[in-house]
Amino acid sequence: MPVPVPVRLHSPVKVSLDMPEPSSELLHGAPFDAGELSGLAEPRGPESLAEVVERSARDSAAVAAAIPHWQAWREAAHRIKAHAMAQLDKLLVRFEQNVTARGATVLWAEDAAEANRHVLAIAREHGAASAVKGKSMLSEQMDLNRHIEAAGVRALETDLGEFLVQLAGQRPVHVIGPSLHLSRADVARLFAEKLREPYTLEAEALTAMARRHLREEFLRAGMGITGCNFAAADTGTICLVENEGNIGLATSVPPVHVVLVGIEKIVPRLADLPVLLNLLARSCSGQKLSSYTHLIHGPAPGRKLYVILVDDGRTRVLADRPARAALFCIRCGGCLNVCPVYRRVGGWVYGWVYPGPIGSVLTPQMIGLKQAGLLPFASTLCGACAEVCPVKVDLAHQLVHLRHRAVTEPSPVRSWSDRLAWRAWAWAMSGPWRYRLAMGFVRFFLRVARRLPWHPGALGRWTRGRELPEVPSREPFRAWWRRGRGKKHDNGAA
Ligand code: SF4
Repeated sequence: MPVPVPVRLHSPVKVSLDMPEPSSELLHGAPFDAGELSGLAEPRGPESLAEVVERSARDSAAVAAAIPHWQAWREAAHRIKAHAMAQLDKLLVRFEQNVTARGATVLWAEDAAEANRHVLAIAREHGAASAVKGKSMLSEQMDLNRHIEAAGVRALETDLGEFLVQLAGQRPVHVIGPSLHLSRADVARLFAEKLREPYTLEAEALTAMARRHLREEFLRAGMGITGCNFAAADTGTICLVENEGNIGLATSVPPVHVVLVGIEKIVPRLADLPVLLNLLARSCSGQKLSSYTHLIHGPAPGRKLYVILVDDGRTRVLADRPARAALFCIRCGGCLNVCPVYRRVGGWVYGWVYPGPIGSVLTPQMIGLKQAGLLPFASTLCGACAEVCPVKVDLAHQLVHLRHRAVTEPSPVRSWSDRLAWRAWAWAMSGPWRYRLAMGFVRFFLRVARRLPWHPGALGRWTRGRELPEVPSREPFRAWWRRGRGKKHDNGAA
């Protein structure tokens, strides 16, 4: 069970540690067992994704290796985020006071539904029929587009990758590169089908098409919606980073700007940003710095700025002390790029908004172990993720902690079939003759299963992409050892 900690968010709304688990059509946990691994439907999907993330990981590693004080930066960033989470209640209030003093309106949302209601109310108040959006994982978590579109407000993604997956009716596969799975030919086909543009494989022509369509939308939109990379409590500053310029337009062209801020984005001081920004860009893509860094200090004259501070499960993570460091995450995507599981399966299989190792840690805590208790097991525990994490989130330890919770609290891992299988395993391993008997069964089972033309149920799903193991030798290791070879080998080695 989570360790209760005295978390008090002194906000105009009560933020409770015992919130009901959120519900949404998106929240279907990890469908590893549901035969939905065909998520990356593009023919080259998994291959191109693996190539791209591998290249990003290599670039990031090279840039990090060239900086002698890289580890000191990581340590400093870890301490900044640890301090921020320990003081979160006070920092949130301080941020609210400072950003309000600069002319912004602050709203608090306990969950995604409340945050969506706020956005819709703002759109109605200002008569906005359409909104242009910067990339925001929090808005994905809120399923914002679907909610406001159902109420008649058109939501258009303006980050190129998000624009592509929105056109394709898909979901992002990566926190930084939402459309990494799409090839140039996929994009050309998409533009021809959805935008009625001529089919071309020229990258510049494709970019120009996207730019032309998006520019018109910026000029038409009544509202811009963005996420927030960091929110500095001491100055009330909102920091946003990007490479494409779309966030600059979304925050400055429409008359109203709505900023969605997950409460973990708070940092104590504006002076904390340089180290975090240095780490973020390098860990994302190997860039020294993102092309644009926006520091927003209140609304421009004649414009409105709304800041929505969203909990939606974050205080639940904060309350679980061993897993709290997951909130340090600055969404660089580095742990996804190095993860052997993510590289193989892509982002959709993780079943919710945050994929990869950080998703396997955040999702079960945010939407509950009952729905996503399998995710902590979607890891080899190789530790590559923790090694690259710029804020030193101890991802491998957190995965182990959540595995422990998954087997001690209600979750899919505690199903009767799993418990039966583990009891049988424990029984077989508790004595030599039981082990021999069990191995006899295994040999018999494998011999029969390898001859069958098809395999039913879970076995069939498992063997769809894998070979069944060979039947173990008739002379197992123990017999070989008894015959003295092991002894001879042992003596020789000595
Ligand atoms: S957990 Fe670390 S490596 Fe993974 S996305 Fe977050 S900051 Fe990046």
